[in-house]
Amino acid sequence: MSIVESERELSVFESMAARFDVAARKLKLDEGLLRYLRTPNREIIVHIPVTRDNGQLDVFDGFRVQHSIARGPCKGGIRYGPQVTLDEIRGLAAEMTWKCAVVNIPFGGAKGGIICDPQKLSTGELERITRRYTAEILDYIGPERDVPAPDMNTNEQTMAWIMDTYSMHVRHTVTACVTGKPVDLGGSRGRKEATGRGCMIVCDEALKRFGRDRQATRVIIQGFGNVGGQAARLMHEAGYKIIGIADIHGGLINTHGLDVPELLEYAAESKTIVGFPGGEAIGCNEILEQDCEILLPAATESVINSKNAHRIKARILAEGANSPTTPPADDILFERGVFVIPDILANAGGVTVSYFEWVQDRYGYFWPEVDVNRRLTELQVAAFNDVVHFGEKHGVNNRIAAYMLAIDRVANTLKMRGIYA
Ligand code: NAD
Repeated sequence: MSIVESERELSVFESMAARFDVAARKLKLDEGLLRYLRTPNREIIVHIPVTRDNGQLDVFDGFRVQHSIARGPCKGGIRYGPQVTLDEIRGLAAEMTWKCAVVNIPFGGAKGGIICDPQKLSTGELERITRRYTAEILDYIGPERDVPAPDMNTNEQTMAWIMDTYSMHVRHTVTACVTGKPVDLGGSRGRKEATGRGCMIVCDEALKRFGRDRQATRVIIQGFGNVGGQAARLMHEAGYKIIGIADIHGGLINTHGLDVPELLEYAAESKTIVGFPGGEAIGCNEILEQDCEILLPAATESVINSKNAHRIKARILAEGANSPTTPPADDILFERGVFVIPDILANAGGVTVSYFEWVQDRYGYFWPEVDVNRRLTELQVAAFNDVVHFGEKHGVNNRIAAYMLAIDRVANTLKMRGIYA
């Protein structure tokens, strides 16, 4: 069954698995090795007892899935939410293995989650849930084992609580046990901007291939949060013409270019871009189909699908969000010659600077932001070139090339290490 035939039944995680299978088949790896690569190394389920503020005792379910330790410690976020499932965490853990391998950093993938509704929990309750979850998985995490980071509904504060809990148990401060920490607690300069900056770096590389300059390049960005907002700011400063931006409430278009700094100020105050006077209103999905050179979806999943892919006018699609494009849309975009920079490459700037944070924590010496940005650029550019060359060599699109490159790197490590016992 091709990916296209199976289109509508596939969830995001099934789509990832389907892409993995296509890439793995092309590499002609041994069936047993493929099964090994597909299977997580370890899945931990914990039940977290927490005393609520009203004195009542509650129990929350939490997970940590460690997909691969072949290339180094595991790395991946922890998310909180009522919809979190083990299956979702399993899919995301594998995705982290491939993302780390694409940018060639020495980590395997992991992901964690707790089923809870953060909107209905006080700060104290969230802290107690976080600390007990950390205590439950303590034997399996740490700088040499598995290094968590923030994800949906978790943040710098959550990482600070995890770091403190871990440190209390091992009786000394271990900043390298999590990343995404506040800068004053061993976080890295440049981490906040890293994903948006990584998106810009890969766009710069794509422009070089097409012989275009930034000033002549019109960009539309869907999503104005951490990734979209930072990408918009940095790309505007670098000379790109940002002609369209959308958030969940609506979009704005201005073919002469939006005033991004003013829009950032407006959005910080109004909590939305809607109503900003410097552009015309447009729907947040309609904006994807407008004329531009670069489209940067940085909001949410599956926004480019079989229904709208044939109307996408952009020459370059840089995926800031995770899984913004469905497999059937991939095929349509490929046929139409759109140059896709897949998520596991385009948005890997965040995990790359997390790697830098871990490195800085371990040797206790912190780099100025300019060094962080330079090193991020080196790794993103190398990864971009690796993916594009791999694709050209094997005659596949960039997404399949990124998976093939990642799987090949992990498979090679496994072959060299051999199977223990
Ligand atoms: P965020 O919550 O800070 O921002 C999300 C933005 O998208 C908001 O502006 C929101 O209004 C907008 N949005 C949500 N749904 C929308 C819709 N249907 N149409 C238009 N706009 C919509 O989130 P973020 O951290 O910027 O993450 C965005 C995406 O990037 C997610 O897919 C995330 O998994 C991925 N990602 C983030 C990072 C990171 O470092 N933050 C790293 C890798 C991948």
